[in-house]
Amino acid sequence: MPVQGPAVALERIIDLSVREIQAKSILIKRKYIDSWFVSRYGMNLYRGCLHNCTYCDGRAEGYYVEGEFGQDVCVKLNAPQILRRELDPARRRKPLKGGYFFLGGGVGDSYQSLEETYNLSRQALELMAEFGYPVQILTKSTLVRRDLDLLERINRQSRALVCCSISSVEERISRIYEPGVPSPAERLETLKCFKARGIPCGLFLLPVIPFVTDTEELIEEALQAAADAGVDYLIFGGMTLKEGRQASYFLRHLARHHPQFLGEYRKIYRGDRWGRATGEYYRRLNERFRRVARKHNLPLRMPPELFGDLLDEKDRVVVMLDQMDYLFHLRGKASAYGSAARAVAGLGKPIRDQLRRGSPLPGINGRARALIEEILETGSAEQYEQLLRN
Ligand code: SF4
Repeated sequence: MPVQGPAVALERIIDLSVREIQAKSILIKRKYIDSWFVSRYGMNLYRGCLHNCTYCDGRAEGYYVEGEFGQDVCVKLNAPQILRRELDPARRRKPLKGGYFFLGGGVGDSYQSLEETYNLSRQALELMAEFGYPVQILTKSTLVRRDLDLLERINRQSRALVCCSISSVEERISRIYEPGVPSPAERLETLKCFKARGIPCGLFLLPVIPFVTDTEELIEEALQAAADAGVDYLIFGGMTLKEGRQASYFLRHLARHHPQFLGEYRKIYRGDRWGRATGEYYRRLNERFRRVARKHNLPLRMPPELFGDLLDEKDRVVVMLDQMDYLFHLRGKASAYGSAARAVAGLGKPIRDQLRRGSPLPGINGRARALIEEILETGSAEQYEQLLRN
């Protein structure tokens, strides 16, 4: 059906196609806890995204978003009914596990303009409030402010966390590469507004666009803006560029606006299956980021005070080990904590029982084992806290 909602700018209606569909399920369940979002459950209420960021990997063939990405969106009209069935503890054989329920990212922003018409994210939040689940939102839209009242209520009951992503604080670059979203300054203002109401916030400096927004100066400006906004933590990351729809769309924009970098892109994106740039590029990028991040005192992953009470002890250990692995990696150092995190995640029996037996645990070396024991005893670990706070 053509979009007639008041939320969509008139000049864009001509090109848009919005399909209302009936979904069979909404909750996306992960087998193991994810340490970036501290979450096992996510949802895409919309499939496709009118924000149309030029670098969006939702455009890649592997995500199976039908039609023209940025113009065609499927709206899961029955999402609130399905979600009620999936969330209601009275209808479940087993309770849902701890951690944030994640709204955002993936193949469509939950607060893209269609949300003004369909209210699916608001209805999802109402269910979270009703059933007492913790929620995390990641968006590039300021529309999330509409739901401040509800998020305040969820935060009081069970925790809410609001995050925005930016690629830099440069308005001019944002207009080119993120044409459908409010300016970085407006996104940062949105976070300030949640912080002022006592709701924790994170800033995702992600993705930084190689050679365009990955400079030391722009990273410094973004980190300063994050600190000024009072965010609780920062997540940093480079850009992936998968061959096919995603790469050809992005490179067309790059050729138009920054043609001088095309040759550099050919050097760092060499057809990796996951669209990753070369290890050497990421190593240099991480070094640059670390140099800047050292000057600020921001945690570089979600800190334990925002998730410690949501997780059982096994998931808490998995998240902390995995975060440590990232933090070592950021410093250019190898670590065995990532494989230890996966080994703990895969343990069938309670972790304390396994440790009590004293026999070696596959995938967990002596250092990781000592760290796990410290986390179980104290709820955290000294080395972890030091690394997290840079
Ligand atoms: S807001 Fe997110 S999902 Fe939407 S186009 Fe931009 S990067 Fe993709």
